[in-house]
Amino acid sequence: MTSRRRPKDAPVRAHTSGQAPALESLAHATILMVDDDPVMLEAVRLFLEDVGYGSFVTTTDPGRTLSLIAEHEPDVVLLDLKMPGMSGFDVLAAMRTSEGSRFLPVIVLSADSESSARLQALELGATDFLMKPVDPSELQLRVRNTLAFKAYQDRLADYDPLSGLRNRRRFESDLRGTLAELTDPAGGCALLHVDLDRFKHVNDTLGYRTGDRLLKATARRVEQIAHDVESGLISTVGETDARVTVAHIAGNGFAVLVSAMRDPDNAERIARAILKAFSVPFQIENHQLFVSASVGVSLFPVDAQDADALLKHAEMAMYQAKNRGRNTHEFFSQEFNARAGERLLLETELRRAIERNELVVHYQPKVSVVTGRVLGAEALIRWNHPQRGMVSPAQFIPIAEETGLIVEIGRWVLGQACRQLRRWQDAGLPPVTLSVNVSPAQFSRSAILKDLKQLLASTRVDPKHLVLEVTEGLVMADIDEAVTLLKAIRSMGVRLSIDDFGTGYSSLAYLRRLPIDEIKIDRSFVKGLPEEKDSLAIVRAVTAMGHALGLKVVAEGVETHPQLEVLRAAKCDEFQGYYCSRPVPAQDFAPLLDRRGARPRPNLYTLDETRPAPSRV
Ligand code: C2E
Ligand code: MG
Ligand code: MG
Repeated sequence: MTSRRRPKDAPVRAHTSGQAPALESLAHATILMVDDDPVMLEAVRLFLEDVGYGSFVTTTDPGRTLSLIAEHEPDVVLLDLKMPGMSGFDVLAAMRTSEGSRFLPVIVLSADSESSARLQALELGATDFLMKPVDPSELQLRVRNTLAFKAYQDRLADYDPLSGLRNRRRFESDLRGTLAELTDPAGGCALLHVDLDRFKHVNDTLGYRTGDRLLKATARRVEQIAHDVESGLISTVGETDARVTVAHIAGNGFAVLVSAMRDPDNAERIARAILKAFSVPFQIENHQLFVSASVGVSLFPVDAQDADALLKHAEMAMYQAKNRGRNTHEFFSQEFNARAGERLLLETELRRAIERNELVVHYQPKVSVVTGRVLGAEALIRWNHPQRGMVSPAQFIPIAEETGLIVEIGRWVLGQACRQLRRWQDAGLPPVTLSVNVSPAQFSRSAILKDLKQLLASTRVDPKHLVLEVTEGLVMADIDEAVTLLKAIRSMGVRLSIDDFGTGYSSLAYLRRLPIDEIKIDRSFVKGLPEEKDSLAIVRAVTAMGHALGLKVVAEGVETHPQLEVLRAAKCDEFQGYYCSRPVPAQDFAPLLDRRGARPRPNLYTLDETRPAPSRV
């Protein structure tokens, strides 16, 4: 019943070019024939053998069709319509509802010239229809066309139409197969994830057509590397039978699987060769494009024990290479993985922190350098994590900024600050200004204007008591846009301060253009006072410059009396720092604000910031 068959999938070797198989392999197709007439089966088989087909599965029992399909995975079925027990219609209907044969092409053969039979067969999902007695050349033509169409469909399912390389789905299944076959305990694989750098930029500036051509050209370069490895042009010392599979697994991402290789030095050699291949510019239409790539490498079995993990780890290593400045390669590392995992966890928990009331605001006094009176406070966020204790904003603000959570968190801090100002005023405390840190992301949506208006109205806080601290980075990103927005905020009566002054791109030229009220000298310049000459010069110059522009000058991070003395001599206006007080919960701040004014005293507060915050005022 079953005659010569090729082993399934034999011609589709998983190496080098990675390109889709050509249609010439049609003669390898397996043909299943279902007909109750054995003479007919034999005739059809002879006709097809004449033109080179060699793999047949035949049966006179239509009831066995589905099991034969499952067993032999034919490429096409030739199906008689009139059979005792089970008609061809029944077989077709069963095939189309079964997962393994839903899309398998079926050519129906029938002596019935009625067009209704033909229609019914087509409706049930027959691919084509042939009249009996069968004309040999007609049969050969129909079978060939049907197989060609199937090959085309298979190719679409497995290969990327743009680059011609295996797609992700096919690559994953090949990868699983390769890993399963690795029986040699010394055997291993290296997976390289190659990602074009700044591809989006090419698409955005030169258009998708150019982007597509760049991807095609990239595919050819990566293929060439694969070829060079297999042919020994790129030496893989001691691992001469390395086999390379290339795939196009994401928009601008390619995968290179080197099997029968486990020496990381060889993987590194290949990674370097890939990067080198990109050092030659691409000539696309009339553009000369200099495009680099980032490569992440993961090794089987050391970095991962299955296909999914191997792919994931190579991708993570690729992102790490991007973080390191692109145009480089990076091996996967467990340590990096652990850090990334920790970050992810923190991000998830941070999302819930607001709802769970885990965020609190502490207040650090801003003190007059001359009188020692507390004139205001800076609102500084704290995360009172149920397990980790107090998490420093230095740890979670960058995550909040990267994920966009900062917008929501920032709005919450602003609300808390305004409500706190209201409470202090209602309690009859002397008026203070309250400074709130604002991240660039909060500005990029001018929603902050609306938020401010609403908050000021609902809390009836005098806008001049509110100060927004922004960083130089925000201003430098787009100075015209920043100036417009800052002016709008200032026109509401809210004041503006440049935080961490001196750490960014500070220049007098832009400072003059900004509608601001205050600059804060960064803690790093105060730290070395009074000994460090450079810091001393900077603090003096910045204070003088600020005053010349009519700005208030505040020094951050004052911890000692000599530091305060230097600031006094430089005529700095205000200071913040542990010398007066650490940031404290709201209720601990109120006593600092007594009518006579608080005097800076060393270690007035030695509050342990890691203890859970007491409830608010
Ligand atoms: P920043 O705005 O420059 O805040 C000053 C930082 O210096 C605070 O750190 C404060 O606790 C610390 N500090 C004050 N005096 C001293 C001192 O004498 N010695 C030392 N060693 N440190 C002192 P903190 O609270 O850890 O905040 C770090 C940064 O996180 C802030 O720097 C600010 O950029 C950011 N941040 C804090 N809260 C918020 C917020 O609500 N929104 C945004 N967007 N960022 C915030
Ligand atoms: Mg600040
Ligand atoms: Mg600062």
